[in-house]
Amino acid sequence: MFPYLEDAACRGRDLDLFYAESGPSVAKAKASCSVCPVAPSCRDWAVTREEFGIWGGTTARERVGIRRERGLRLVPSGAA
Ligand code: SF4
Repeated sequence: MFPYLEDAACRGRDLDLFYAESGPSVAKAKASCSVCPVAPSCRDWAVTREEFGIWGGTTARERVGIRRERGLRLVPSGAA
């Protein structure tokens, strides 16, 4: 479970915005992340856990790049 929900700027917002693949919704989601107090923690948490969506101001594709740079792999929630 996402541990920063209490302070998240996206709390109570339409989460469909954060799962858009392209278009203006991506920019809107990123705008929320840009003012979110937990964005760095959110991004670091999501890099190895979230395959889809905007997390910590990063798209799914951007997190693939971060994993590659850091030598990390995706371990989705619920996986051993
Ligand atoms: S950084 Fe973005 S996705 Fe993460 S908690 Fe904040 S608003 Fe939500």
